[in-house]
Amino acid sequence: MLRDAVRSLAEAKIAPHAAAVDEEARFPREALDALTANDLHAVHVPEEYGGAGADALATVIVIEEVARVCASSSLIPAVNKLGSLPVILSGSEALKKKYMAPLARGEAMFSYCLSEPDAGSDAAGMKTRAVRDGDFWVLNGVKRWITNAGESEFYTVMAVTDPEKRSKGISAFVVEKSDPGVSFGAPEKKLGIKGSPTREVYLDNVRIPADRMIGEEGTGFATAMRTLDHTRITIAAQALGIAQGALDYAKGYVKERKQFGKPIADFQGVQFMLADMAMKIEAARQLTYAAAAKSERGDSDLTFQGAAAKCFASDVAMEVTTDAVQLLGGYGYTRDYPVERMMRDAKITQIYEGTNQVQRIVMARNLP
Ligand SMILES: Cc1cc2nc3c(=O)[nH]c(=O)nc-3n(C[C@H](O)[C@H](O)[C@H](O)COP(=O)(O)OP(=O)(O)OC[C@H]3O[C@@H](n4cnc5c(N)ncnc54)[C@H](O)[C@@H]3O)c2cc1C
Repeated sequence: MLRDAVRSLAEAKIAPHAAAVDEEARFPREALDALTANDLHAVHVPEEYGGAGADALATVIVIEEVARVCASSSLIPAVNKLGSLPVILSGSEALKKKYMAPLARGEAMFSYCLSEPDAGSDAAGMKTRAVRDGDFWVLNGVKRWITNAGESEFYTVMAVTDPEKRSKGISAFVVEKSDPGVSFGAPEKKLGIKGSPTREVYLDNVRIPADRMIGEEGTGFATAMRTLDHTRITIAAQALGIAQGALDYAKGYVKERKQFGKPIADFQGVQFMLADMAMKIEAARQLTYAAAAKSERGDSDLTFQGAAAKCFASDVAMEVTTDAVQLLGGYGYTRDYPVERMMRDAKITQIYEGTNQVQRIVMARNLP
């Protein structure tokens, strides 16, 4: 029922704008409005904080179905979870009450600020500093590649509180867009997910009350990594949705397109490609849903499974979207058809929330 509801909404209210959002590289406002009106913009927020209380699998299905028509728009529910999960996992009751309610009501979005210009895969090498000053912390630094920066009201920011301790000297904070000293860089000009704003976040003597720290001092990096264990599964869902969208489009196209006097769907070479695409998508789906169940239960092998789902599903998305372009021939290579957008959008799923090389490091360290 949830899938049917999200699919109908996505096809009616999000899909019609997907090409323009990509072409104009603009924020998918129509998608945000439609998702918010239907309480689908941040479904993971627990009911006790005013949210829809969707479990990890339901959240995955929402993201998958939105990504099937518009990958940029699927980053609204996905990044709202990424940005707010540190608070849900490690924040005080007061922080949860304060920040989850506006998120659940659709009045504010949440972003996640881990990466920096010189700290990507090696996130613990971050330089952003937070220095205690009485009842306040003062933050200085640059966060890079922040999804929905400028659109979000709230930002989970990881910063160094004790430079001697490397990852154990990193703490997490909630920073608000309106805090004096917060500003944003120009939107990045990207290959894909062009409707999703990616900008730098500048922190210039941002003075915030001490109770905005998420969890204890020095636990920020652990919270950031624990968050990714859960949210990599949402990237797997995004990848899965993009791949399914490409397969669905190609499936229809091959029945219409005629060469050598018959639909190209009649050629076994084409049928084998479609079979492989569907097979890989189904494998990715099973892995992703199993990982979502593990996320919900908090199983001990979640770290491996989350990394495996993200890595596998994103590689599948890249293969399947490339094959979808192939099945449309020259037409697939143009912006008159959606599969080239899907191919460009798929690429990011192999890069963010840890590159697929990093996922393999994570898996190797946590072999079942
Ligand atoms: C569109 C977009 C949105 C993003 N959104 C966010 C966001 O909202 N919040 C956030 O915090 N970050 C975000 N990111 C950042 C993203 O997570 C990083 O780009 C990613 O982790 C890689 O870091 P990097 O770009 O510095 O690449 P690097 O770490 O410099 O990696 C370059 C290459 O080296 C490889 N490499 C690095 N180390 C190793 C190793 N030990 N072994 C093998 N290979 C290695 C990588 O796999 C990659 O191929 C976003 C990025 C993009 C492009």
